[in-house]
Amino acid sequence: MPFTSSSLSPETLAVHSQLKPSEPYKDIVSPIYVATTYERAADNRYPGGRVYSRDGNPTYIDIEQCLSKLENGEDALLFASGMAAATSVFQALQPESTVLAPKHMYWALRKWLIQFTQQWKIHLHFYENGNSDEIITLLSQHQVDLIWIETPANPTWELTDVAAITKSAKQKGTRIAVDATVMTPVLAKPLDWRADLVMHSATKYLNGHSDVIAGALVTKVVSPFWQRIREIRALGGSVLGPFEAWLLQRGLKTLFLRVKTASANALELAYYLEQHPQILSVSYPGLSSFPQHELAKTQFTNGFGGMLSIRIKGGAQQAIAVAAGLQVFKRATSLGSVESLVEHRKSVEGEGSACPDDLLRLSIGIENIHDLIQDFRQALDQLEK
Ligand SMILES: *Cc1c(COP(=O)(O)O)cnc(C)c1O
Repeated sequence: MPFTSSSLSPETLAVHSQLKPSEPYKDIVSPIYVATTYERAADNRYPGGRVYSRDGNPTYIDIEQCLSKLENGEDALLFASGMAAATSVFQALQPESTVLAPKHMYWALRKWLIQFTQQWKIHLHFYENGNSDEIITLLSQHQVDLIWIETPANPTWELTDVAAITKSAKQKGTRIAVDATVMTPVLAKPLDWRADLVMHSATKYLNGHSDVIAGALVTKVVSPFWQRIREIRALGGSVLGPFEAWLLQRGLKTLFLRVKTASANALELAYYLEQHPQILSVSYPGLSSFPQHELAKTQFTNGFGGMLSIRIKGGAQQAIAVAAGLQVFKRATSLGSVESLVEHRKSVEGEGSACPDDLLRLSIGIENIHDLIQDFRQALDQLEK
């Protein structure tokens, strides 16, 4: 029986995102299409069907199709950044729309959303992360146009039970969009929970090497709302460059290897840290001490992800001292790359942040787990007891 891409497993699809070797040389690695403009034929038509590459670039075709298959969607769009992808969803709403968003969400998006909704006259309501009952109550009180969900949510990784709210949302014609940057299609597929849109900061796990800023949206169905988003990308110009797209395609080939390894490392490190006397608490969906561990077990496959947060006994100064003592972990913001990163989250979020000031956010990479544990052991040993 011939293989079709729908019969292939996601690991294989990620490796073979290039649908077929390109002509005329049959390269097994995709070419990068750099042209911004295309020639008209003498009869005034465009024989290649392309006019100008702000509408889309041929380098994207296979990558967008691959992402859409990995998420079980119908179509996908690449963007110049995760923020460009996320903001285009809100820009596609009409003024006077109503939006629900979580209290804890990616910091820059929250900041942008507050400003944008004021200027655009959108009614914005915040809900407590992980509280699907509150979302259902808000749905019964307002005609909601869009629910924005981030799961797991930065930086404490609360989960939202998307499947639990879809029934109420569908009855009211409310769209659900999920920021699945931390989840990745390796761990779960929100479109299978009947969400309408999935957003990724492809800067993080999808690319995975801290060398590309990119974003993506995947839709369950091609709707007029989706076409408006496509137009916002083309007219607003938030397109990804072809070189970045090519790097992203290369990164995607190892997505499953990277996320599975990072998840296995994160779980072992979480076990180690949880029993360490200098650690106040560890927040990681894979631990049985995590308040939503039962939900996590039903939502995640292939592991519980590579992100965890820890709180250090003794407050901000001690937390910053632990970060300073780490040698394999690099002190930097961002997440989802092959190298392990640590950051004192409150210092990044700044004034008005609800993040505890003794919290360190860890993005676990694919190093040998013994080196990561040893790194924490020596950094924690340096603390004054
Ligand atoms: C990084 C990030 C974003 C923003 O993506 P950029 O690519 O930096 O624009 C949005 N959501 C989450 C969860 C992120 O981690």
